[in-house]
Amino acid sequence: MRKKIVAGNWKMHKNAAQTAELLNELVAKLPADTTAQVIVAPTFVNLAAAVSQLEGKAITVAAQNVHQAEGGAFTGEITADMLTSVGVNTVILGHSERRAIFHESDALIAEKVNTALKHDMTVIFCFGEELKDRQDKQHFNIVENQLRDGLFQIEKGSWSKVVLAYEPVWAIGTGETASPEQAQEMHEFIRETVRKVFGAEVADEVSILYGGSVKPENAVEIFSKPDVDGGLIGGAALKADDFLAIVKAA
Ligand code: 13P
Repeated sequence: MRKKIVAGNWKMHKNAAQTAELLNELVAKLPADTTAQVIVAPTFVNLAAAVSQLEGKAITVAAQNVHQAEGGAFTGEITADMLTSVGVNTVILGHSERRAIFHESDALIAEKVNTALKHDMTVIFCFGEELKDRQDKQHFNIVENQLRDGLFQIEKGSWSKVVLAYEPVWAIGTGETASPEQAQEMHEFIRETVRKVFGAEVADEVSILYGGSVKPENAVEIFSKPDVDGGLIGGAALKADDFLAIVKAA
């Protein structure tokens, strides 16, 4: 049985005090019978504090990025070793904002994936088409290419450390969500694509999250689809009650 996962990508939100406050509220209100794995990704400067605050709690801390190199003269960047040294063993890679705003290519993302896996980190690999791709009916091709060029270089044995997050760019922060049918159709295609290259065992085990304007109001329906194994949440992850309602839906 593959894992249900709900991850909150906090993006560039919440200072130290606000991070501690939101985590406190999540810890206090997280129901003891929660079955989904819960992940939060605060900003780099708040990761170490988040890890110590969440010690012994059922919430995992992830980073939002990592540099591909092991170290060196890369002003402003952070290595996988630095992350694991403060207890962060999960990282979000390939987010559409990193791709579009910070010009991360599939090749660069592939390097980052390799580095993270080398450090035994879990990778939440994000990908998804833009509106124009869907209008041009290229969305399946785009998604297949992103998987092939950014992720499929990994070895079969590494898949236990990979979570997929399909985030159609046109649904991120726009209030527009893929319909549950659109999400299911794409998730099924993604699983099939993984199956063709890595086999049924890998495809059946990998969790595929949906991201893009998931809210308490639409989470139940989206998560009810057979190939949707949870969500990667942006805006709604910044409020404890909303995020926990989504966790409950998974
Ligand atoms: P929203 O939930 O704000 O649309 O963001 C989704 C996202 O980008 C999560 O990584």
